[in-house]
Amino acid sequence: MSTAVKWKLEEPPSTTIALAGNPNSGKTTLFNALTGARQHVGNYPGITVERKEGIINLKGTRVKLIDLPGTYSLSAYSQEELVARNFLVNEKPDIVVDIVDATMLERHLYLAIQFFELGIPMVLALNMMDDAKRQGLIINTEKLSQLLNCPVVETVARSGQGKRELIETAIQHAKQDRNNQTPLEISYGAELDLVLDTMTEIIQQHQFMTDRYPARWIALKYLEDDAEIIRYGKLNGKVSEKLEAIVKNTKDHCLRTLKVSPEAIIADYRYGLINSILKQNIIIQEKSRQERIDVTTKLDAVLVNRFVGPILMIAILYGMFQITFSVGEIPMGWLENLFSWIAATATRLIPEGLLQSLVVSGIIDGVGGVMGFVPLITIMFLMISFLEDSGYMARVAYMLDRVLRIFGLHGYSAMPFIISGGIAGGCAVPGVMATRTLRSPKEKLATLLTAPFMPCGAKLPVFMLLVAAFFTEYKAQMMFSITLFAWIMALLVAKLVRSTVIKGKSTPFIMELPPYRLPTLQGIFIHTWERTWQYIKKAGTVILAVSILLWAAMTFPGLPEQQQNQFEKERQIALNTTTAATERQQMVNEINNREGQTALRHSIAGRIGTSLEPVSGLAGFDWRTNIALVGGFAAKEVIVSTFGTAYSLGDVDPEAADTLSARIASDPSWNKFTALAMIVFVLLYAPCVVTVIAMAKESSWSWAIFATVFNTVLGFGMAVAIYQIGTNLFM
Ligand code: GDP
Ligand code: MG
Repeated sequence: MSTAVKWKLEEPPSTTIALAGNPNSGKTTLFNALTGARQHVGNYPGITVERKEGIINLKGTRVKLIDLPGTYSLSAYSQEELVARNFLVNEKPDIVVDIVDATMLERHLYLAIQFFELGIPMVLALNMMDDAKRQGLIINTEKLSQLLNCPVVETVARSGQGKRELIETAIQHAKQDRNNQTPLEISYGAELDLVLDTMTEIIQQHQFMTDRYPARWIALKYLEDDAEIIRYGKLNGKVSEKLEAIVKNTKDHCLRTLKVSPEAIIADYRYGLINSILKQNIIIQEKSRQERIDVTTKLDAVLVNRFVGPILMIAILYGMFQITFSVGEIPMGWLENLFSWIAATATRLIPEGLLQSLVVSGIIDGVGGVMGFVPLITIMFLMISFLEDSGYMARVAYMLDRVLRIFGLHGYSAMPFIISGGIAGGCAVPGVMATRTLRSPKEKLATLLTAPFMPCGAKLPVFMLLVAAFFTEYKAQMMFSITLFAWIMALLVAKLVRSTVIKGKSTPFIMELPPYRLPTLQGIFIHTWERTWQYIKKAGTVILAVSILLWAAMTFPGLPEQQQNQFEKERQIALNTTTAATERQQMVNEINNREGQTALRHSIAGRIGTSLEPVSGLAGFDWRTNIALVGGFAAKEVIVSTFGTAYSLGDVDPEAADTLSARIASDPSWNKFTALAMIVFVLLYAPCVVTVIAMAKESSWSWAIFATVFNTVLGFGMAVAIYQIGTNLFM
């Protein structure tokens, strides 16, 4: 018997479903439950807002699922909101599944109302039904569905309950509804309705952007002062001017008579509509006790208390730092052994020469040094994910808002700072990306310009090395001071840019503090993995390339033959002396070291380092330090390994730094102030290349270049000051 293999071509998905909802509604949990591991994470074209896609097979139908960014609204306040809106308009998914937290219906329906206004076919997922039941809420789903004129499905994303019914309803509804959904028209009160009608008429007359949006919706957006729509509109000239004039009149009128903007009136009416729906016995509160709310209120009484809150916050963050380092040490040791084993094996298998040097010193050591930090990063992210999913991070932002505001930043700036290494050991790349949550472009810019000052995981080994060499008795205090100094510098520079180049008002901190929840393991693992993977990718690509480049710059051109022969001769003489074998070996080692030094100085990197000496000398940096610092611009991880090579110790990894730090400590060209100057410089100078690219993506190349130059100048200025004042006054 033979079995014939049947090949079937995969058909393109027949239905596209977009998942939307407020942050914390359980969107990601539901998406993961629906797609399992079969998802694809990328960015929206041209924008670095995460885009998740998954394909699911349902009885032969292929369905494409897209996880839209979590948003409270569809205005143009933040990039997430814009992305969500543009996706809906441009890519026209067949249907939107709006996920709402059943325990916070009023707030969450605000987004749903806006989908209706855009005329997008929708299914409502009433998520967190388990919580709702626990709180004694009974929701009349059928009636809600009638009143909203859209299917409503109850779900518990965490356990997957209701997910199948949800998808089936969505598919069915998508088939029926394609192209015959009429946008919901809400009354915004006699006055605004009149204006809206006038505007709608003008818009229809000129077919002004009506190929993309419903006419009344465009009018509404003009009234809401939607920057993006108005920007598009302006490209169409005259009509936009007309509309803008009407809006200006209306706004003035509203402000004069009601002392509120049309925008606020519109929001009020939307909530009014929601309330009038919910009042029709949609929600019945069974028990008077609201357990979860209760727990949250009780916890918050302590955790965000004016006095106790900040102390607990510092304790929690400090604890995180401690755990990361103490637990992380163990797997870091394993990885280290693994990489030294790989290096040893490669040394054994590849004959001595250039190729061996490239593979061992260039590739394995370079990438290994970076991969060694993966356990630390993973543990860190694991804990950050826990704090995020539990709802505590929102409180951190809330508490820090008071302080950050003084410096022209925002509560949301806290996360980017922390991720960048604000508690030591982060990475500025995801940190810069995390600035997306900031609504105001100016606050976002100020945050992303200063986040790279934080002591990221790649800078830490440099600090540890120098602290071990010169401040042995004050290790912990020094590391703590460095972190504190980074925050102070970030805040001061933020204040500086916010009062000069990016002046502007600060935006209010509006964010509901989500109720505390016990996070799911799956959720935490997925979040952690996504972040860790980003880091590993960086090690595998950029750092690999940089390691090879640096290796080449430090290897070529080799010493002229004549000099090589000279060293060889010295070695022969040493080997032929009549001293003990160990002493002979010592002599040979010394000669090898000297040869290494001479060769390095002769190489391209050595020449660059030497040529920078006249300037860098002001801060006490010699040519070897210069090589390391130039390499550090490519990736900060490179500084220590380059140092190692430059001090001719061959393969130095951060953990074997003992010997390297001893060597530096005994080098006469180094003292406490050189070390301090170097620490401050490494902390402040140009972000690494990957961060600069991330900054450019999040803002623009001119800002990224500005940061590179500004930070380097600032760092160098401070390093010079420290070195000069220190050596001249205290030595
Ligand atoms: P997103 O911000 O909308 O992506 O929300 P997440 O999927 O990250 O979920 C936020 C939190 O709610 C997580 O801690 C989830 O474990 C939790 N969660 C999600 N769905 C449910 C649910 O149906 N019931 C309960 N009790 N918790 C849920
Ligand atoms: Mg999410």
